[in-house]
Amino acid sequence: MGAARRPLPGDLRPGRVVRVFDPWRSPLCTCPPKYSLQPYTGCSHFCQYCYATSYIGRRPSTLKRGYVERLLYDLRHVVNPRYHIDISTSSDPYPPEERVHGITRLTLGYLVKYGLRALIVTKSSLVVRDADIISRGNIAVTMTVTTMDRGLAAKLEPGASPPRDRIEALRRLSERGIPVGLRLDPVIPYVNDDVHSIREVLEAAYEAGVRFVVTSTYKARPDNIKRMAEAFPELAGKLRRLYVSEGDWMHGYWYLRSGLRRRLMELVYREARRLGMQFATCREGFSDMMRAPSCDGSHLIPRRGARARSG
Ligand code: SF4
Repeated sequence: MGAARRPLPGDLRPGRVVRVFDPWRSPLCTCPPKYSLQPYTGCSHFCQYCYATSYIGRRPSTLKRGYVERLLYDLRHVVNPRYHIDISTSSDPYPPEERVHGITRLTLGYLVKYGLRALIVTKSSLVVRDADIISRGNIAVTMTVTTMDRGLAAKLEPGASPPRDRIEALRRLSERGIPVGLRLDPVIPYVNDDVHSIREVLEAAYEAGVRFVVTSTYKARPDNIKRMAEAFPELAGKLRRLYVSEGDWMHGYWYLRSGLRRRLMELVYREARRLGMQFATCREGFSDMMRAPSCDGSHLIPRRGARARSG
């Protein structure tokens, strides 16, 4: 399928570390124009299904050289406060290394200082450590939870926090008045597509204070489907058949065939709507199922007054 690349606004320019969010320019992406900032390169969560490894390799989270200087330059001279910043889209901002380095905490402090809007995307309960800073800023948090099964999560996302800890983190953030959302992403056939599993995740998140969920089916790339096959050898043949033999190659990914994708998304949709949650899908093209002001959760970000850049 030909990719009609979406034009970006002229006042959204890339900085030295604050990049324009447009890694794949998929016509199926419904995200608003925004920035993307990765305090780390690589990701120690080592999720089997990770999409970013196709582009940056599979390596642990490491610091970027000259990160703070480059960040400050961008915040003072490049970033347009009209657009929010996703932290992060191709590496988690709270890998275990963050306990030592604190570079994400430092980053958030600067974003608050400059009155910029941000959306944290993580799979780590460590985010609660920074609730003091987050609650002072224009910042919302979305947490990815794909299953409540601790053993399955450890196989799928070996470096990330156990699911109950992620839910507890959402609860604690929500209790502090911080807007929170859930990413049930990805839904993988035969792995976490059971309706009971989906219900369990949504109910736990709802009970923790979450009222927005975005979901997506797993999209296969040659490297991540190989990892999935190694992690789940009993499913290797079934996944290859669904994706490589019967699926659709679109915009650099094998997608499940459309009918199956819709069926999986409807499972989440029904449970979300039963609970009265806002619902969105990510890079699926099912606009008729959209029941939220934004697909990425950016509508959750508070809007308080912007401050001067010269501080
Ligand atoms: S947390 Fe995100 S970036 Fe990190 S390995 Fe998992 S999917 Fe990849």
